[in-house]
Amino acid sequence: MKTRRHHWAILILGIIFITSCGVETTFSPPPLPTLVPTGVATAVPTPPPTPQSNDVAQLPPPTATLQPTATATATQPPTPTPTATLTPTPIGPCSERMPQDDLFTIVTQTYGLSRDYAPQDLVLLTDYLPFEVTLGFPTEIRQIAVQPLIQMITDMQSAGLQPRILSGYRSYAAQAISWEKWNREEPERAAILSARPGHSEHQLGTTVDFGSPELATIVGIPDIQFHTYFYQTSEGIWLAENAHRYGFTLSYPRGALELTGFYYEPWHFRYVGEEMATFLHQSGLYLTEYQLLNQPEPCIP
Ligand SMILES: [Zn+2]
Repeated sequence: MKTRRHHWAILILGIIFITSCGVETTFSPPPLPTLVPTGVATAVPTPPPTPQSNDVAQLPPPTATLQPTATATATQPPTPTPTATLTPTPIGPCSERMPQDDLFTIVTQTYGLSRDYAPQDLVLLTDYLPFEVTLGFPTEIRQIAVQPLIQMITDMQSAGLQPRILSGYRSYAAQAISWEKWNREEPERAAILSARPGHSEHQLGTTVDFGSPELATIVGIPDIQFHTYFYQTSEGIWLAENAHRYGFTLSYPRGALELTGFYYEPWHFRYVGEEMATFLHQSGLYLTEYQLLNQPEPCIP
């Protein structure tokens, strides 16, 4: 088993910057408390757990009557204060969704984005963060998430941590290349090792993959960058406890596979604004779970 593990890890190293981070490992980390019963995707909408703060007290009731339309997100004007509301995203036809400035759009292995969607406010992180964080790679994210990210990185460094950013925005075309590569090399596992084009949160431009210099030692593989054991690193522990205070949420916690199509990815955080991130953190829900609990089931392409 150890040899298989090493073999897998070496495969990861060669393609680390163009693949989805939907990576499965054969490790079985200690279980965490179960978040919710399974099958919530088709469940009758249920109110979220009792909010514990003023912010989440403003949550709208379940929007079971919300009328999703194909143009709902496309025709909405940009939202100047996207964290001011927790209104769930109207869900249109899966292959036509254009999130625009929406921070809550569902993106899973089932519910995808238009091939034409690309954020219009991408910026280079190398213009904002030092080399030891970006490692010099031309990673882009949306402008709206930059200042919260800088503040979070700064606070992590002040706490003695060494956060690294390994991936940010990924275009539909780049994801297509990644998907083709996985299908060519590991066709049986492509569906869990990568995301189909249009089905990666990285296309939103609000998602970041973090790394830790401790990971290689913990895993025992030099230079490894993505591994489930990220949750054991100092950076992973800090992010799990604090990222919500900066508006970032863990997209794929343990147990998210059924609703998202992705295994546990303790390094993959998405910016949703402080209010939503804090609500999710306190409620124990993850974003996709919350969205599916509060909206009609999206279409399936
Ligand atoms: Zn990721």
